[in-house]
Amino acid sequence: MKVFKFGGASVNSIERIQNLASILKEFPGEKIMVVISAMGKTTNALEKVVEAFYNRDREKASQLLQKIKYQHAGTAKDLLSVHYISCEAKLIEFFAKAESLINEKPVRHHDYYYDQVVCIGELLSTSIISAYLEETGIHNHWIDVREIFCTDNNFRDARIDWHTTQMMIRKKVTPLFRNTDIVLTQGFIGATKENESTTLGREGSDYTAAVFANMLDAKQVFIWKDVEAVMNADPKQFPDAEPIAELNYNEVIEMAYYGAQVIHPKTIKPLQNKNIPLSVKCFLQPSLAGTVIQDHIPENLPPIIVLKENQVMLCLETKDFSFIGEHHLIGLYKIFEKLKIKPNLTQNAAISFTAVLDDHPGKIELLVKETSAHFGVSITKGLSLLTLRHYKKELFEKLTERKNILLRQQTPVTLQVLMEDQ
Ligand code: ASP
Ligand code: MG
Repeated sequence: MKVFKFGGASVNSIERIQNLASILKEFPGEKIMVVISAMGKTTNALEKVVEAFYNRDREKASQLLQKIKYQHAGTAKDLLSVHYISCEAKLIEFFAKAESLINEKPVRHHDYYYDQVVCIGELLSTSIISAYLEETGIHNHWIDVREIFCTDNNFRDARIDWHTTQMMIRKKVTPLFRNTDIVLTQGFIGATKENESTTLGREGSDYTAAVFANMLDAKQVFIWKDVEAVMNADPKQFPDAEPIAELNYNEVIEMAYYGAQVIHPKTIKPLQNKNIPLSVKCFLQPSLAGTVIQDHIPENLPPIIVLKENQVMLCLETKDFSFIGEHHLIGLYKIFEKLKIKPNLTQNAAISFTAVLDDHPGKIELLVKETSAHFGVSITKGLSLLTLRHYKKELFEKLTERKNILLRQQTPVTLQVLMEDQ
């Protein structure tokens, strides 16, 4: 058994969906669990629908949703013939749920509506692709992953109920493979016990694939991406970034933690726990080796560079010169949790605490408001956070040329500096 995950970029056009079919044809007779994301930037577009709805701009919400409907109907029409009518009926049904929701007045928490609307992205893409594969002779069984992945109701970042999900996989997914080679489903989404849709956090489809792999005892996971492999830096920021042939779980989990946009950070644990290798492959050139991630310490790792722009430094100081104690920190982390803010770096001193955060405009203002009840607060915006692993001094010097360093943290392997332009 293999698990394949195709991200939004791999299914964002007719040609790419056709390409997905030709990749599957290269694995005849193999049992494959296929996990697919929403097409292209559909999730972003659905987020805008929710935003408009929550701002009580019903008309805008409805227009934005119509646009998404129109695009998906067009894709289905271009790809399908005999299965078009049945697929269209399915799409209409998913849209109808979202449409009726955005015609209500928002009375529940924003994140609840977010998940009910945003989840359709994956349901639409997989319905169209499943029908298309069927038409090209790739028999497959489509399932609604919300009937399998049981989560809590922490909307937008739901946690999987491991026990129930494992049970559902045994009961509903494993038997399907007796009659079909390919089971196809959605990444990123799940549902509560009460059947309310949930999402697992942006870019969460990798995680879905890893959970399936763990629970199905898969031999291997393939994540098909538009890059040739995992690179040692983001090629958009560093044009001479190089591919890495082999990585171990530990390195990848650290890279993801520090913000490298390789794989969703939660993806590694379910794979490491069952020692399942993960291949990151290029869907445009499937013959390239890509990157293999497994439990084996690779030799000659290149330096790994992660640069996070648009960072904010939040400095808090006790108002009465008292030490920063546990109670301060507990209070502070409760505020972070409430606002769903995850600091990228923190540092404690006697009477002060510093956190480096992504600059979410609305959230930072709220954070300042909440913390200033207890602390003297200052913020500095427009910073960048550089993380280097396995680096040499020369590289550090080159990357910090003409920068002021505001904060520095170091372990034997990792160096992090918060910097601003001179
Ligand atoms: N469609 C979701 C997103 O764009 C999940 C994913 O792509 O992994 O975040
Ligand atoms: Mg994606």
